Amino acid sequence: MILVSACLCGVNCKYNGGNNLKKPLKKLLEQGKVMMVCPEQLGGLETPRKPCEISFGSGKEVLQGKSKVITKENIDCTEKFIKGAEETLNIAKSINPEYIILKSKSPSCGVSKIYDGTFTGTLKNGSGVTAELLLKNGFKVITEEEAERLIK
Ligand code: SF4
Repeated sequence: MILVSACLCGVNCKYNGGNNLKKPLKKLLEQGKVMMVCPEQLGGLETPRKPCEISFGSGKEVLQGKSKVITKENIDCTEKFIKGAEETLNIAKSINPEYIILKSKSPSCGVSKIYDGTFTGTLKNGSGVTAELLLKNGFKVITEEEAERLIK
């Protein structure tokens, strides 16, 4: 079993009500090999919702209480992002996935690269809140781009 960001399987859980469908991942879902998660929905955020970015640092600093996840209007959504990360970790622990595929660049799901908090489409190094918590707990977490090389 693998754990996958729900938007990559075609679920309309993205901030703008859309999805990030990757057909090979949807195929794996249909074969019963995937469990889907959307950390932002699990944290209690609505869909559609205002896009968020991590103001400085990355998911690591958010989990340490040193940074925040905010909207462009400076609304603080940190608590919901942390709740979503914890709920996702609980699910991961319960199914013990071989690996986890998360949507790149997201403030929740991004692995190694995320948007930089300026809402200008600029990237910085670091992972999103959920990705960071999963990595910290020893799970193998990759982006959908890395997964493309594994799943054909
Ligand atoms: S939180 Fe993750 S699963 Fe949910 S829409 Fe954002 S990138 Fe996709």
